[in-house]
Amino acid sequence: MIANELMITKQTISSFDPPKRRLMGPGPSDIHPRVLNSLSRHTIGHLDPEFVRMMDELKNLTQYVFQTDNQLSMVVSGPGSAGMETCFVNLIEPGDKVIVCQNGVFGGRMKENVERSGGTAIMVMDDWGKPVDLNKVAEALKANPDTKIIAFVHAETSTGVRSDAEGLCKLAREYDCLTIVDAVTSLGGIPVLVDEWGIDAIYSGSQKCLSATPGLSPISFSTKAVEAIKNRKTKVQSWFLDLSLVMKYWGGGVKRSYHHTAPINALYCMHEALVMCQEEGLENRWKRHHDMHLLLKAGLEDLGFRFLVEEPYRLPQLNAVFLPEGLDEGAIRKRLLNDFNLEVGGGLGAFAGKIWRVGLMGHTARKESVEYCLNALKRIL
Ligand SMILES: *Cc1c(COP(=O)(O)O)cnc(C)c1O
Repeated sequence: MIANELMITKQTISSFDPPKRRLMGPGPSDIHPRVLNSLSRHTIGHLDPEFVRMMDELKNLTQYVFQTDNQLSMVVSGPGSAGMETCFVNLIEPGDKVIVCQNGVFGGRMKENVERSGGTAIMVMDDWGKPVDLNKVAEALKANPDTKIIAFVHAETSTGVRSDAEGLCKLAREYDCLTIVDAVTSLGGIPVLVDEWGIDAIYSGSQKCLSATPGLSPISFSTKAVEAIKNRKTKVQSWFLDLSLVMKYWGGGVKRSYHHTAPINALYCMHEALVMCQEEGLENRWKRHHDMHLLLKAGLEDLGFRFLVEEPYRLPQLNAVFLPEGLDEGAIRKRLLNDFNLEVGGGLGAFAGKIWRVGLMGHTARKESVEYCLNALKRIL
C-alpha cells in the first residue's frame, strides 16, 4: 500500500501500433520488408568481433554508394543533421571563410553551422526552385580569395532542385578550396560520384533514397579533407562528432576502443539497405528513380499539376508541384492521409500552402506507389 501511495498515477498505456502508410513525402521513405525485418535481429555487443566485421562491410558498402575509395567513410550515429554537423565542425576552425550556397531551406542550416563553428559565412543566394548559379560562386571566390571551403546542397529537398555538384567541385579546386556537399536527398536516387567529382566532405541520410530507418548518416572525407583535420590548431568543439575520436572506434581495425555505443540494430538495417543497393546496382537504381518520375509526371500533369522546377534541374526523387487552380492543398493532403494512408509533403517557406512535394525515394520509387497515388488523386479530384 505504501508503494502505491508513492506512485504517481498515470494513464495505462499499451503498445504503439502505427498505421501502415505509404510514404511519398520528402522522407522518410517506404522501407522494404527485408530491410525492416533486419532490425529485429539479435542485438550483439558493439565490440563483438562479428559486429566489427559487419561494420567493416558497412564501410565498404558506404564507399560503394558514394563511389569512393576514401578511407574515412562511415556512418554517423545520428540523422542527416548530425552528418552535416560532423562535416562542418571537423573542417572549420575559428576565422575560416566558407562560401555557402543557399537556394532553399538546407543551405540556411549550413550557414548556421559555419557560424556556430566560429567561421564566417559568405552567402551566395539563389531563388528557391533554381539551382545554384556557378557564375555567382565564381564571383564570390574572386572577391574572397582566402576562402577555405565551398558548401552546397546537391539536391534541395525544399524545392526539388538539383545543382551542378560536379561543376561546383571543379570551381572549388580551381580556387584551392575544399567542398562540403549535402547529399541527403541525392544519394541512391541520382548519381553522386565522390571521387570522380572530387568532393572533399559529404553527408547523407538513411531515410531518403537509401530507404533505411531514420537516424543515421553516411559520410565520407577525401585525403585532402583528412589532412585539413589533422592540421587543425584548435580542438573540434563537439566531443561527440570529433572524427579524431570517433575513428578510434570506426577506423580502429581489430583494435577498436569504445567511444559511444553504436546504434547496433539500426546499423543492421543500414547494412541491409545498402546490400540491396548493391544487389540492384546504382545505375539501375538511378534509372528506376528516373522512370518512376516520368510515370508520375505524366499522371500529375494530366490532372492539372504543374512542376515548380525547370526540367533540366528536376530531381526525380522529389517532385515539387503546384496544384491545379482553386484546390485546398491542406484538405486534400489530409484526405490522402486519412482515407488512403498516403503521405505527401507540403511546401516550405514561401511555398507553404502552394506546392506539394511528392517523394519517390528509394523503395517508394516503384510503379505500384505511383499508380496508387494517381488513383487516389483521381478519386478525390
Ligand atoms: C532531410 C534533409 C536533411 C536533414 O536530415 P535529417 O535526417 O532530417 O537530420 C539535410 N539536408 C537535406 C537536403 C535533407 O533533405
